[in-house]
Amino acid sequence: MAPIVDRMREAFFAQTGGAGVATRRAEVELTARQADQGVRVPLDLTVPHTCPACGGRGELWTDPCGLCGGSGAGLLPHRLHFRVPPGVRNGTRLRYSVTPPHAFETHIEVRIAVQ
Ligand SMILES: [Zn+2]
Repeated sequence: MAPIVDRMREAFFAQTGGAGVATRRAEVELTARQADQGVRVPLDLTVPHTCPACGGRGELWTDPCGLCGGSGAGLLPHRLHFRVPPGVRNGTRLRYSVTPPHAFETHIEVRIAVQ
């Protein structure tokens, strides 16, 4: 199973835009009416955060941190609400930036799909 994990890790780091800013992508389906009038949409995502056990160092004293596996980071479930402005079309991409508590700043790119 190791190669699969490696691929996932590569995919994750490929999304990292440098300076600790990660970009996550999501797709949201709206009805034509919602797209026309604008809507507030909840979005659940996991965001990278600093490991609470080792504070991001990846080790405790001289031992690798068991909680984060030595990476210094973990993923934190986070729910946010974002506002879709009125008049969006199918394929519109909206960008948001969030900084959840104890987490890195995360950029979110949401692609709108209108039914
Ligand atoms: Zn840790």
